[in-house]
Amino acid sequence: MNIAALYHRTESEFAYLHTQDKLHIRLRTAKGDVHKVSLVQNDPYKLWGEWYKDIFKEKRPMDIIASTDIHDYWMIETGEEHKRLLYAFHIVANDGEEVFYCDRGVYPVRKPYTSDHNYYFRYPYFHAIDMIKSPHWVRETVWYQIFPERFCNGDISNDPEGTLPWNSQKPGNYDFFGGDLQGIIDKLGYISSLGFNGIYLCPIFKSPTNHKYDTSDYFDIDPAFGTKETLKRLIDECHKRNIKVMLDAVFNHIGDTSEQWLDVVKNGAESRYASWFHIYKFPVSYTKTNRIDEAENLTYDSFGFTSHMPKLNTANPEVQEYLLKVARYWTENFDIDAWRLDVANEVDHRFWKSFYREVTNINSEIYIIGEVWHSSQEWLQSSEFHGVMNYSLTQSILEHFIRGNINSSKMIAAINHQLMLYPKQTNEVMFNLLDSHDTPRLMTIAKGNKKKAKSALAFMFMQTGSPCIYYGTEIGMFGGGDPDCRACMEWDETRWDRAMYTFVSSLVAIRRKFSDIISFANAEWEVDCEKSVIKMTKKYKGNVLFGIFNTGTAEFETAAHGIMLLSSETRAGQNNIVIKSNGFYIGYLEGEKCTQ
Ligand code: CA
Repeated sequence: MNIAALYHRTESEFAYLHTQDKLHIRLRTAKGDVHKVSLVQNDPYKLWGEWYKDIFKEKRPMDIIASTDIHDYWMIETGEEHKRLLYAFHIVANDGEEVFYCDRGVYPVRKPYTSDHNYYFRYPYFHAIDMIKSPHWVRETVWYQIFPERFCNGDISNDPEGTLPWNSQKPGNYDFFGGDLQGIIDKLGYISSLGFNGIYLCPIFKSPTNHKYDTSDYFDIDPAFGTKETLKRLIDECHKRNIKVMLDAVFNHIGDTSEQWLDVVKNGAESRYASWFHIYKFPVSYTKTNRIDEAENLTYDSFGFTSHMPKLNTANPEVQEYLLKVARYWTENFDIDAWRLDVANEVDHRFWKSFYREVTNINSEIYIIGEVWHSSQEWLQSSEFHGVMNYSLTQSILEHFIRGNINSSKMIAAINHQLMLYPKQTNEVMFNLLDSHDTPRLMTIAKGNKKKAKSALAFMFMQTGSPCIYYGTEIGMFGGGDPDCRACMEWDETRWDRAMYTFVSSLVAIRRKFSDIISFANAEWEVDCEKSVIKMTKKYKGNVLFGIFNTGTAEFETAAHGIMLLSSETRAGQNNIVIKSNGFYIGYLEGEKCTQ
């Protein structure tokens, strides 16, 4: 047995409360190395008689729920009458070796190790209050991301000076096209007809730029976007259509036109806001460069090297109280459903814990996601966010489906590795996406290959988590990195990719209709690396969902799997279905008809 690969840690993603009385316990072993894993468990106070022999008689088999290229992950859901648990693992390797893996390490399966309760792992008490919770509605939500300045101009009276005619040119870094909140209200019918039931708005608070990530006043709506009254109407209209609304909070940094920063610029070390920032030298200064948004010799911390976005000192209690007041204000008075937190990984954990407590106290069903592009256990396992923007999943999918930099097996390994970093209830509310205002658009990444783009989208929509479409992806819009990906939404229907529109609306409909099985079921994978064919099976309450993706170059012939829900690049073969290169097939088998 490869003992070095064994891993478990209690009160982590390897042992967590899933419901008030059920624990999920996971164990990692080397891939393909172990034949059988059983959990032995007891009440830590029930230590009379031959308790240790009894618990080995009743040992509970664990199942492999995910594998990567190097590890297998085993899991069991378990409980204990008095909600406290003593446990260990009995592991049998393929080579026949048996071990007792416990809190003290790895031992032979015998006394005095198995009979001494101090050797065992503990989960001392099932505290429901410490359980990681996630709002249920997110599992049934399909998001539509809007960059407000570029979605729709619904009110020309608020257009900023120098506003360019809609879609008259490719967007530059400093251009305005007049998009606003009224425009979003006007297009809610469009969003709703595509099936979306959540909108994520990039920042809308007062700021001089088109992207508004450099806030000048957190308590006001940018006048070019509308007023508080417009936002109220937007949220009301969304709620009437059962659409949830997510706002973007930029708390890592403030804009350099905010009164706080202007005061620091004017009064230097004497400013009452001097300690709101991370400043090394007064007066604050920097050297301009000819690169966009990149200064040099900054005497203060900022976002990246952007002089316009001085970083806030969130360890300062005054700053904390100010930002929490902002969060309470919009959560309480505007009935918003979710917050997306910009550059969330660069803000301290203590602040996010306070933020979480404040906003969930106002609305226990609110959804909080952070912008974190890398592994995020610390934020997700200590009640800071419910999920993150799942750029890890984005990359795994794009690297295989679009760029071909990793093979199918490596992609599944990467996806499973990510899933095993978090509890199940967290995975179910991750914010899944393939493109956004911070990345090139999907069609551009795919170099216009619609087959690849569709296949990647379908694959993403079948994964656990809450999927999001970036505005315009549904009509096949192109766009490179920022600012290119922030072009005006195309409202001239003659310029739409109609097939993509129909495809995306079908995908949204399937995701919503089958949200239970897609969210809750654990995916089983069969991967043929040579042919580059991936088969996913999800089973839930007797129903089965199939996804077969051919990312190879040759045709792939397969038996029909259930009733076809959606496909691309397929044709009927003899009693079979042929999936062409970059095509896919999604099928569904209901209840009793299921033979698997
Ligand atoms: Ca306008």
